[in-house]
Amino acid sequence: MREPSWGWRLLAALTRCRRLSSQVVPRLQGPKRPAARLAGYSGPRHRGDHRRAVVSRHRVIVIGAGIAGASAAFALARRGADVTIADPGLDGQATQASAGIIAPWASSSEGPFYDLYAAGAAYYPQVIALLAEAGVERTDYRRTGALIVHADPARLDEEQARAEARARAAGDVAGEVSRLGGDDVRALVPVLAPELEGVFISGGARVDGRTMRDALLAGAERHGARRLPGRARLLPRPHGAPRVEAGSQVLEADDVVVAAGAWAGDLLAPLGLRPAVEPQRGQITHLRVEGVDTSGWPSVLPLSHHYLVAFDDSRVAVGATRETGSGFDPRVTARGQWEVLSDAFSIAPGLADATLIETRVGLRPLPSGGLPVVGALPRMPGVHVVTGFGAAGLTMAPITGDALARAILDGETPAELAPFAP
Ligand SMILES: Cc1cc2nc3c(=O)[nH]c(=O)nc-3n(C[C@H](O)[C@H](O)[C@H](O)COP(=O)(O)OP(=O)(O)OC[C@H]3O[C@@H](n4cnc5c(N)ncnc54)[C@H](O)[C@@H]3O)c2cc1C
Repeated sequence: MREPSWGWRLLAALTRCRRLSSQVVPRLQGPKRPAARLAGYSGPRHRGDHRRAVVSRHRVIVIGAGIAGASAAFALARRGADVTIADPGLDGQATQASAGIIAPWASSSEGPFYDLYAAGAAYYPQVIALLAEAGVERTDYRRTGALIVHADPARLDEEQARAEARARAAGDVAGEVSRLGGDDVRALVPVLAPELEGVFISGGARVDGRTMRDALLAGAERHGARRLPGRARLLPRPHGAPRVEAGSQVLEADDVVVAAGAWAGDLLAPLGLRPAVEPQRGQITHLRVEGVDTSGWPSVLPLSHHYLVAFDDSRVAVGATRETGSGFDPRVTARGQWEVLSDAFSIAPGLADATLIETRVGLRPLPSGGLPVVGALPRMPGVHVVTGFGAAGLTMAPITGDALARAILDGETPAELAPFAP
């Protein structure tokens, strides 16, 4: 009998390989299998590395597709995990309403909260580069600076001293800190009130929360993640792999990430667990300043919860309310609209004639302990939570998602997550 040709031998070998891999690649509804860790993983993987993950892909279900879920999903998927993202698109998602200011060096926060806030801002250029590497270019992230404004020069002295110390510690990403007189302030943002002076932080950035969320989800999908448009429910399972019901399906995974923002408590309550988060309503109004190029305007921070963020299309967002005790009630209210506009006009009277485009409402996941809640749940194997970012989630979520992905795939919690353990 004639020996099979070299080509036939190669084809037969490939067929054997494919059969073998289809036996070991997990199916979401397939039989239970032991948790498969990505052996030896110790750092970010890049496109092309995915071949290593084919044999034992780690199945993760991410519940929630706001910035927290999208960030975790992207970080997991780019490392080769088999990711499914469930989200029914509830009204009041915080991410779709967020202002988009990335400038922690101007904040008054301290301790582990500030450390994560600052690390989150420093990580942004890296996550933008990772998205570009995955073929996702549009994020609407731009470093146009952050401008602290006030009428009292003594108050600005304090802010300048703090911003300078923080910028020195942060390095290049925070850029330069400089003091600006009234004319210079209005040269940057012409609509501001005449009595305001400022402190300018050149590394301050802004990002469109919707675009960034969609970019991370697209990046996850480029790495094989799937989307499921259902409201998920965790099925109690004290032993064995966690299960999730979403729509008409029951899915099994090696790990589940609860990234359901303000709704995280609803998911965990049936398991006898309740992470300390509650919804805090935020209303933010978008204005169009017809015929004005706002693309280079810095974010304006008047030392209160209210601010002004400019985008490229002559659009300026002013906000936002912080309505603790609002419950799950994502409405534009008369009082909220009045508060947002009167605060905006008090620092930027030049906006009075702008066109009102829309008011967005988001429910921030407000942590009662003051810190985000991130990590594996005790006594609930394979269930992790990432929520409680309050008013800083757009900044903090990408780096936190990355650290959580490492914790899940390596089986070791990175030291930087320790202060936020559930
Ligand atoms: C007005 C406003 C301005 C802000 N400005 C800034 C800013 O300038 N800079 C900054 O850093 N941060 C800002 N934030 C904060 C930031 O937006 C939030 O911290 C962040 O978006 C929270 O993200 P998240 O993914 O945890 O929650 P969300 O974005 O609320 O996402 C939670 C998701 O979970 C889904 N979900 C809920 N239950 C289930 C379930 N059972 N099954 C499946 N899915 C479920 C929901 O549909 C939702 O999509 C702002 C927030 C607001 C409201």
